[in-house]
Amino acid sequence: MAALDVIPHLIGGAEVADTARTGPVFNPATGERIGDVGFADPSRVAEAVAAAKAALPGWRATGLVKRADVFFRLRHLLLEHTDDLAAVLTREHGKVLADARGEVSRGIENVEFAAGLVHLLKGEHAEQVSRGVDVHSTKQPVGVVAAITPFNFPAMVPLWMTSSAIACGNTVVLKPSEKDPSAALFLARLYAEAGLPDGVLNVVHGDGETVGALLDHPDVRAVSFVGSTPIAKSIYTRAAANGKRVQALGGAKNHMVVMPDADLDAAADAAVSASYGAAGERCMAISVLVAVGDATADALIGRIAERIDRLTIGDGADPASEMGPLITAEHRDRVAGYVTGAAAEGATVVVDGTRQEFAGDGFFIGVSLVDHVRPGMRVYDEEIFGPVLSVVRVASYDEAVALINASRYANGTAIFTRDGRTAREFELDIEVGLVGVNVPIPVPVGAFSFGGWRDSLFGDTHMYGPESIHFYTRRKVVTTRWPDPSESQVNLGFPSNH
Ligand code: NAD
Repeated sequence: MAALDVIPHLIGGAEVADTARTGPVFNPATGERIGDVGFADPSRVAEAVAAAKAALPGWRATGLVKRADVFFRLRHLLLEHTDDLAAVLTREHGKVLADARGEVSRGIENVEFAAGLVHLLKGEHAEQVSRGVDVHSTKQPVGVVAAITPFNFPAMVPLWMTSSAIACGNTVVLKPSEKDPSAALFLARLYAEAGLPDGVLNVVHGDGETVGALLDHPDVRAVSFVGSTPIAKSIYTRAAANGKRVQALGGAKNHMVVMPDADLDAAADAAVSASYGAAGERCMAISVLVAVGDATADALIGRIAERIDRLTIGDGADPASEMGPLITAEHRDRVAGYVTGAAAEGATVVVDGTRQEFAGDGFFIGVSLVDHVRPGMRVYDEEIFGPVLSVVRVASYDEAVALINASRYANGTAIFTRDGRTAREFELDIEVGLVGVNVPIPVPVGAFSFGGWRDSLFGDTHMYGPESIHFYTRRKVVTTRWPDPSESQVNLGFPSNH
């Protein structure tokens, strides 16, 4: 077999590949190993952090309007290259091309937000807070930021982090998922083409060891992480213990409540789209349908099963495919285990996607629908991250809310109803970070911020949008006085403005 290309790091504008430790990269639709990615050891990570540190003074001193120019150009380049980037995403992740283009489009929103950085970085000023005394506040960069991203959004999540961090005058070391690392390099090259100086955005590849070196490096000042809950929690603990600012977004189990008065056809369309889109490998995928009343559950299950029959599963590069494969063979087998184990736990497997057969060696699985699911079953309690929709039957709205508020995950949720009063109550009662009303995947537009509660986010700030400006800056408050020399005197009392 011919040697495979090793996907390189990008450090200070130069590509460098490591071959001592590597990981395989597959095309999940064919099962073919299409490349290897070199893993950075701590000394390589130190080089990347040093490059980012060296680029910091120059980038920080770059005028805000010139910084904004980079984002305007980047937006243009992303639009121009959407299809190329989507093809990279489909090849390594497996998601269908239309979905990949959607991912790029949502990432562009973050770039558009960052392009408003002159406005975003404005401070406040209070004149004459005391006689002859003014106060103003500024927002200054934190320093070198480590950005660690998951496999499921290989372009959008790096854009969430890099756009705001760089806009704020920071420099970045991005560590993308080792399962689909090429999109991060593609983005870094577009940033360079847009005029971003070398060293402001560096990409290092690797696994837990690489991440550990970033978390322990004294020159890394802030850590943004998105991934699974156990890793998010450990990242938060280790980086915080090292004195760094951290935001670590974790896993999810998103519930969609359907009230008896909902438009059941629209709810079934939404449930199928939101649970099986991207083969369920979205942190905002709907994985639990909470049907209020047995009649609602029965009506929905019939409608969902009909829609499942019409789904086309295949290579994401084929425009006819609506759903692609899972990321790896191991993950596919893990997902299948939840479905095959569900009946023994007392659930009813209405549609068993594990029985669907596919030609070739791709990591495909059919979609599954499981009824009579309850807390305490593995299929309910654990994040599956695959095309498996569980139905939990409840008797009332209150029972639905109590179920969701008791879940350890609290990333997103949605309610389907025609009654505004119920929707409003839900918005008040539900303890989840992102809420949809007749919207199954309520990922907020780029001018708002994104994040869950409980085990779906460790730290205080949500990602992208206004909260990211807060996370990626340090506020400084300056109190100024230009006294007349004749007013100067010694006064040991605590200065009072009263
Ligand atoms: P993951 O936690 O396995 O990996 C995420 C990142 O952490 C990768 O870059 C990986 O290389 C690194 N990593 C892996 N093991 C590590 C270790 N031991 N120590 C330090 N770093 C390590 O997640 P994944 O499988 O790539 O992504 C899927 C998960 O991400 C799901 O749980 C999904 O819900 C979650 N996710 C959450 C959000 C959100 O916004 N809350 C968004 C997307 C994905």
